[in-house]
Amino acid sequence: MPKRLGRTFAPLTESRLAEARIIDGRTHARALIARVAAEVARLKAKEGLRPGLAVVLVGDDPASQIYVRAKGEQSLAAGMHSVTHRLAAEASQGEVVALVKTLNADPTIHGILVQLPLPPAIDAAAVLEALDPDKDVDGLTVVNAGRLAVGRAALTPCTPLGCLILLRETLGSLAGLHAVVVGRSPLVGRPAAQLLLAADCTVTMAHSKTRNLPALCRQGDILLAAVGRPGMVRGDWIKPGAAVIDVGINRVPFRDPHLAAQGRTKVVGDVAFKEASKVAGWITPVPGGVGLMTVACLLDNTVTAAKRLHGLA
Ligand code: NDP
Repeated sequence: MPKRLGRTFAPLTESRLAEARIIDGRTHARALIARVAAEVARLKAKEGLRPGLAVVLVGDDPASQIYVRAKGEQSLAAGMHSVTHRLAAEASQGEVVALVKTLNADPTIHGILVQLPLPPAIDAAAVLEALDPDKDVDGLTVVNAGRLAVGRAALTPCTPLGCLILLRETLGSLAGLHAVVVGRSPLVGRPAAQLLLAADCTVTMAHSKTRNLPALCRQGDILLAAVGRPGMVRGDWIKPGAAVIDVGINRVPFRDPHLAAQGRTKVVGDVAFKEASKVAGWITPVPGGVGLMTVACLLDNTVTAAKRLHGLA
């Protein structure tokens, strides 16, 4: 029997190809949150340590408000200490940096997340660099990016970490697999490639200047798309049996003209799901895939940060 992705499978047939398995983000995220909650309970009982997360929200972007509320609610549900600081859209850069520095010095806070995007008048890079790297639970400081790049213990961005957990829990060892990562942003593509390299994959990074992208993608045992272009990755870009991780979150109008006329939209990924699921071995849906792992990984990173700050990691 041929080996695919480090496991033994029946030969590929049309009927097997039609059976791409869904990687259900909800199940994996629930399991991770349950592990986090158990670890929080253990830390409280054994060490008297309650991991604390502070979220900083500047302005009133509606999507950011929803994300921040979810982060607060889920960290409390996991038994953590949780605070949200809301600043007006007109807040100055100095005010935001001063708040970050106060949180850096607060011993009840182990993780700080500055919700992006910040209002245009604020230099996001300067705010992020004010963060204590050991409390940077979004993994966006240059220090954490550098630690990840050289293979040192880092706090890693939550979405790529979620992708890695989904892959590991689905495929087991990733060693020797060829991972093609499309997208090279500091938030997703770049750290995802670093994490896959650290997991012993052979990694190819692609971006908007890459030539012959479909042929390159077809080489991937793992294909991770983090582009922000709805349905860009087509079925014939995918190696039969590959694991496809779709990070994209794109809001598009419904095809149904009645719904479109009402201004209704839906969320789709960067992968043409129906076509891709006929070729892939495993695939994450959008919604219901990677997105659900992001908050779970934020809580996990906060527990990791709390343990490291207390010398318990
Ligand atoms: P960015 O816009 O920062 O980066 C997009 C990347 O895609 C860039 O590296 C760009 O290349 C590359 N790209 C753009 N067009 C093409 C193309 N035609 N061919 C190949 N590569 C291309 O986006 P993010 O990384 O922040 O986000 C990517 C997607 O992931 C978005 O849909 C976003 O909403 C989603 N997302 C989902 C999260 C979740 O929780 N699930 C969290 C964060 C993001 P170049 O560098 O050359 O410009």
